[in-house]
Amino acid sequence: MIDKQLRSRGVSDKRVLEAMMTVPRERFMPGSIRKDAYEDRALPITCGQTISQPFIVAHMTELLAPKFASRVLEVGTGSGYQTAILARLSDHIYSVERILELHDQAAEVLAFLSIENVTLLVADGSTGLPQHAPYDRIMVTAATPRVPESLVDQLADHGRMVLPVGGKSEQTIVCVDRREGKIIETRGIACRFVKLIGNQGWSVDAK
Ligand code: SAH
Repeated sequence: MIDKQLRSRGVSDKRVLEAMMTVPRERFMPGSIRKDAYEDRALPITCGQTISQPFIVAHMTELLAPKFASRVLEVGTGSGYQTAILARLSDHIYSVERILELHDQAAEVLAFLSIENVTLLVADGSTGLPQHAPYDRIMVTAATPRVPESLVDQLADHGRMVLPVGGKSEQTIVCVDRREGKIIETRGIACRFVKLIGNQGWSVDAK
């Protein structure tokens, strides 16, 4: 996975590759699909959600550039796999999930792996988590129709947010940087995420 899916596509950050090498991806999946854990694609988990493709996890992590001692917000805990990767690279992660069942499963796996610098919450993360803001880094792992204003407001100065923005079936990875009050957006590669459902995302019945 590291050579064929990540290095060959340009992921070069040593710490990101090391995190991808040490976090056991299969642990974050239902038993029936564990044999596919290192395939080059997103895979279904429970509640109609997905665990992201390894390359997308590594690429977004590299873009986010989480430094040790950074305070990170993740929106869309899902399986908890991306959370575990971020936890290896930062000081503390706050991760929000809207589905209780997924939150509970992710909490169990992260505890099993003794990953302790993580606070998991159940809430609508589309409006962020103002009680712990500001964040040095924010990663959204569900598709947003536009960059949510509340998340931009919760970004610290010199902070960066990485998120998929676009339509329901295809999005673009966007980097949002805050530098001395200025907001700079940079568009990257195409991607496919499940919808961010909530106040600043899609409505629950959006088809
Ligand atoms: N990073 C995850 C990707 C999970 S898919 C992984 O690698 O497993 C996206 C997740 O975002 C889903 O679990 C979905 O339930 C969650 N989600 C969607 N809208 C949300 C919202 N408003 N707040 C928090 N989580 C949300």
